[in-house]
Amino acid sequence: MANSMTATPSNFIHQIIQEDQKNNKHNGKVHTRFPPEPNGYLHIGHAKSIWLNFTTAQTFKGLCNLRFDDTNPEKENLEFIDSIKSSIHWLGFDWEDREFYASSYFDRLYELALKLIEDGKAYICSLTPEQAREYRGTLTLPGKNSPDRDRSIEENIDLFKRMKAGEFKDGEYSLRAKIDMASPNMNMRDPVLYRIRHQHHHQTGDKWCIYPMYDYTHCISDALEGITHSLCTLEFEDHRPLYDWVLDQLDLPAHPQQIEFARLNINYTVLSKRKLIQLVDEALVSGWDDPRMPTLEGMRRRGYTAASIRHFCENIGVTRTNSVVDVAMLEHALREDLDQTSPRAMAVLRPLKIVIEDYPEDKEEILTLSRHPKDDSMGERQIPFRRELYIDQTDFEDIPPPGFKRLVAGGEVRLRGAYVIKCEDLIKDAEGNITELRCSHDAATLGAKPEGRKVKGVIHWVPVKDAVKAEIRLYDRLFLEESPDKADGDYRDFINPDSLSVLHGCMLEPSLKAAAPEQRFQFEREGYFVADRKDYRTDAPVFNLTVGLRDTWGKAQNK
Ligand code: ATP
Ligand code: MG
Repeated sequence: MANSMTATPSNFIHQIIQEDQKNNKHNGKVHTRFPPEPNGYLHIGHAKSIWLNFTTAQTFKGLCNLRFDDTNPEKENLEFIDSIKSSIHWLGFDWEDREFYASSYFDRLYELALKLIEDGKAYICSLTPEQAREYRGTLTLPGKNSPDRDRSIEENIDLFKRMKAGEFKDGEYSLRAKIDMASPNMNMRDPVLYRIRHQHHHQTGDKWCIYPMYDYTHCISDALEGITHSLCTLEFEDHRPLYDWVLDQLDLPAHPQQIEFARLNINYTVLSKRKLIQLVDEALVSGWDDPRMPTLEGMRRRGYTAASIRHFCENIGVTRTNSVVDVAMLEHALREDLDQTSPRAMAVLRPLKIVIEDYPEDKEEILTLSRHPKDDSMGERQIPFRRELYIDQTDFEDIPPPGFKRLVAGGEVRLRGAYVIKCEDLIKDAEGNITELRCSHDAATLGAKPEGRKVKGVIHWVPVKDAVKAEIRLYDRLFLEESPDKADGDYRDFINPDSLSVLHGCMLEPSLKAAAPEQRFQFEREGYFVADRKDYRTDAPVFNLTVGLRDTWGKAQNK
């Protein structure tokens, strides 16, 4: 009996499935698949497809396969396969033992192609690519039949076998479906099913020199795996008649149903694989996992959590209308998660030394601060207060602009979790740069709010003696232009030259000595940071800025 789901469907695909289950279509089963081509790393757009395929299966107590759609060996490799698997697991989804490869169906696909030929539904064509384009017609003009269309079945079989045996050069012949050269749908104008490519394959080695095309392979792979609902992006809508045509001609265990949904686009981002490959190949970024890349490996290194990406996918929903999602929405989902899950810490990014002159040189007070203002379970951390401290250069102004609430000459400020201090004097170098502040403290103000005293600002600090010295990489959006793909000019012209700035000699509070790669923190008043997955060393810590504290999206929604 069908698994029935009584809750309101959360998207149009779930609605279709509920209806299918009511009618006992596919025997009430739900089996989806995520079908990456191993020709690059996964990006945030793929995350939407992964999330949709796996959660749809979960919702209806079905299964989701991982299938590598590996029919283009010249662009594919094992590095991509490994990174794809690792990214899906990181996102929190598991295909269990159902890891499939279209290439493992090559024998079946070949036999089924022979069957199509025997049934007079496919033929070997010798048109060159240029000729084929000419014969194909246009959107407004019908195509012309290939001169080879009526080649005898025996001859077609013989030629196909010889294609497989390697007797011909790349492009000399192709196998085409015999459908309709006058079809208004260009995909139905005798599409190519097989082409000759003398190319080594990462899975099948040198066994094959003919490779099946995507449209022929995908539907058959789906059917062989018993996929019920084959979810794909909208640009495949016009391919659905071909998907169904192939399955209708052959005797297969199932006829899966293709359903299209809108792909994810995000502003200030490119998601085309070709462009991502170009960014890597031209060294415009440091690699596929550069923290500015929209790849899952890049986002992971940047400090994105898997949960925040899953929530984002849930928030954007699944529709049939293409649109562009504001990157601020992605950052909002990230901040929401990081706010709850990141312990707080103090980090001084641009250190300015201050000396509390009325605090004894050998004195230390171990102050205890909570790791999270709203979550006691994260516990506490300890920071020694001493005579010599670092504050951030931007928290002091010699000549303050109006409304400046932090430290000024002769003014007071509270050091977070410690005392109110007053700036008594500045020390400058020969060029007039401030190198040190001389301060005093009010011993009566430790921890508690000062009574009857106006101290507006609270700033963070780190003790000089115990500070952990670190490199901090400040990341910003990779593109300055909202639609780098569509704006006039090459998308590479819009790369943000300030998308990475590296700060050396940052000073972190001593509790961060115990950090580990991929650990995330909120550096108070600065943003969310992560210990770099690749470059972090205990004796040479490196942190990445994940995202700043200001939530432009959340703010806009609450207006
Ligand atoms: P290409 O086929 O040009 O190499 P692709 O982005 O389609 O690139 P695939 O590896 O074929 O990459 O994609 C795997 C699955 O992810 C497909 O089902 C595809 O439709 C889906 N997908 C890819 N990009 C997006 C996106 N931006 N939004 C939603 N789904 C996507
Ligand atoms: Mg694709």
